[in-house]
Amino acid sequence: MGQDEQRYQGDSRGKVAAEGPPVVNPIAIKGWPFYDLKSIVTWLGSDLKDFFVTHGAQADLYTAYDLSRKQDPGTTFDIALRHSRGDVLVDPLALPSPQLERDWQLTEASLFLPLAFNTRLEAATLVCPLPLVRPSQVYLRLFASLFGGYTLNLVYCTPENFKRYQTKLKSQEILKEAFYDFVEPDGKEIALPTKRHLPLLNLGSFKIPAELSEKISAKTTSECQVLPLYLHEKQVTVAIAGDRPRSEQISRITTELGGRITARFVQVLLDQLEVAIKGNAVMEVAPLTKRLAQAAEGYAKSESQEINRINTVQVQERIFSEDATVIDLVNTMLTHADKTVSTDIHLIPFRNSVRVCFRTDTLLHDFPDPIPKAIYQAICNRIKLMSTIDIQPASIAQHGRFSVEIGAKMIEVRVCSQSTIHGDHVSLRLAEANAAQKTIRELGFEQHEIDILQRSIDSDHGLTLVCGPTGSGKSTTLYATLFGIDRVKYSVMSGEDPVEREIPMVIQTEVSPPLTFDQFIAAALRRDPDYIMVGETRTEETAVELIRAAETGHVVYTTLHTNTAASAPHRLINLGIQPYMVADTLSSVIAQRLVPRLCPNCSFPASPPTAEDLEVNGISHSWFGTRFNFRDAHGCTQCNHTSFRGRILLAESFVVTPSLRQLITNKSPSWDILEEQIAQGGKSIYQKAVEACARGLIPFKLAIQFRTDEAIQKAPVTSRLVNEK
Ligand SMILES: [Zn+2]
Repeated sequence: MGQDEQRYQGDSRGKVAAEGPPVVNPIAIKGWPFYDLKSIVTWLGSDLKDFFVTHGAQADLYTAYDLSRKQDPGTTFDIALRHSRGDVLVDPLALPSPQLERDWQLTEASLFLPLAFNTRLEAATLVCPLPLVRPSQVYLRLFASLFGGYTLNLVYCTPENFKRYQTKLKSQEILKEAFYDFVEPDGKEIALPTKRHLPLLNLGSFKIPAELSEKISAKTTSECQVLPLYLHEKQVTVAIAGDRPRSEQISRITTELGGRITARFVQVLLDQLEVAIKGNAVMEVAPLTKRLAQAAEGYAKSESQEINRINTVQVQERIFSEDATVIDLVNTMLTHADKTVSTDIHLIPFRNSVRVCFRTDTLLHDFPDPIPKAIYQAICNRIKLMSTIDIQPASIAQHGRFSVEIGAKMIEVRVCSQSTIHGDHVSLRLAEANAAQKTIRELGFEQHEIDILQRSIDSDHGLTLVCGPTGSGKSTTLYATLFGIDRVKYSVMSGEDPVEREIPMVIQTEVSPPLTFDQFIAAALRRDPDYIMVGETRTEETAVELIRAAETGHVVYTTLHTNTAASAPHRLINLGIQPYMVADTLSSVIAQRLVPRLCPNCSFPASPPTAEDLEVNGISHSWFGTRFNFRDAHGCTQCNHTSFRGRILLAESFVVTPSLRQLITNKSPSWDILEEQIAQGGKSIYQKAVEACARGLIPFKLAIQFRTDEAIQKAPVTSRLVNEK
């Protein structure tokens, strides 16, 4: 490879080099009689003309020529532009397509494309990708025979823009793919088209590109009635309404451009120019909005939204320094929470001591070092300050929030402070703000639950309940479900207390007093929703609105505090909803638990449960499967001596079928619903917990905590059903 070739490959425009010279196209060569290459020969030499004739008419011939001559692509284009004097450059894609009253039959002349036609002024402007190339006598006669009496002007554009413009015209069927056969008109009888002083263009809803709005100010644009259209290297194309630029227009623009850029002019109709100037004047809000946003940001920062940055390495060093303060101590706690992947921090005052503990994988563990009571008030004040909570004691709970950047992570912290007999109990809930939103599948559901959630997304109405106690991951499931909705096509609204994370294109409302969930639903229904997510349903009023929303053709999601899926219909009935209404609107129910998983580092084999254990707890031996591995753990440093690390998701679910509808309407007991759920192929959370236990993920004593009334009632039935499978 020669030195020159290497240089081209590194060039920013070198992509063309890889494509090689254009392929010789016999039809394109046939097109050459349309072009007058005299100026090329005059300014660029006959060498280029010979190259042209061998390669046929194609948009990037100048580039191909540059490559064959081993010079920078673009060189010939720029030289041609310099010699062409009056030639104007435009971006045809920024202008409206021409409105042709007659078919464009000049397809052979594929390097002259129609750009603007004005039937009233009988003016036409064509665009060409090769500066210095002019239409030949043959072409002019052909044009005159088709558009008799029209003036004809040429403007130019870059080969890349030209190719895109070709594609655009083809897609609009202005430019036909096929080549027409044409009869060369008799030149003697046709008057050749004349040229206007300035090419006439059409302006649609033209937007001034950013780089141009910086070059010519809005003041000049509106005062001089000039519109900058296009900037290429050192040439700017300016639209004016007259057929010649006025001297003050030239002088103002020249002054503004500072002499290093030359202006070339095109003409547009006065009304189009005025509309475009006004339209682009509106664009001038951009600097204003930017300035306002900066001011607002500064204001917000000074108020409460200040983002605290914690450098994890510095925190360690600061702790040992003489001038370390309570700020450093709080930073250390936040860093510890991040390190242990904790979801919550609690600062709990007692008579003579303070407990600082962290919730990791659903379990609490203590801060490595004890905190003296003497500095407790200072710690509380620091946290309240960060979260803009009033540091004065208050009897009612106070809420606040702040953001903290720990390493590369942005953590959102929601703070709640409640006074107790020994001082304020301060709890902090941590959530990574920029963590990627998980999909339903990524949450760890089994296929049965994934199918049920997907079905709810795909349906056009009905109520889906996600059940479980606090901390069972219900809202995470709902967020993943909302994330699964096509939020571009459908309107999704959510009311949450509080909003735990933001989902793009979901209209989220924080539902806190005086706003209530039932008021939120009623208001949401008037705002044209497709999907409504209601943070939680605890009152009759909310339940009534929920049912109304689901009845009227909306997909509704909410959470319920019940332990099992089977007991969820009863909870709605107990809230005051008629059983038949629950049966009619409910479409699916999921119940879930997040269960701490045995620490893989310190777990050890444990003996399997005895036959008595199984009988007392209503467990069928078949739930263990054929290969089992019971385990327990003793705790180690990796699990903060809790014996647990990580969590597993257990879930049960059912779809409301006609037979279930009947059971709900009859207010049948929840164990009958569980039986139906199992018949649908859904296992109970209890059975899944026992299965997880047999796989060594959780200890037996934890698994049997998921035993429920329904499970005990149906113990013989569930065992039998599973045995039959
Ligand atoms: Zn461990």
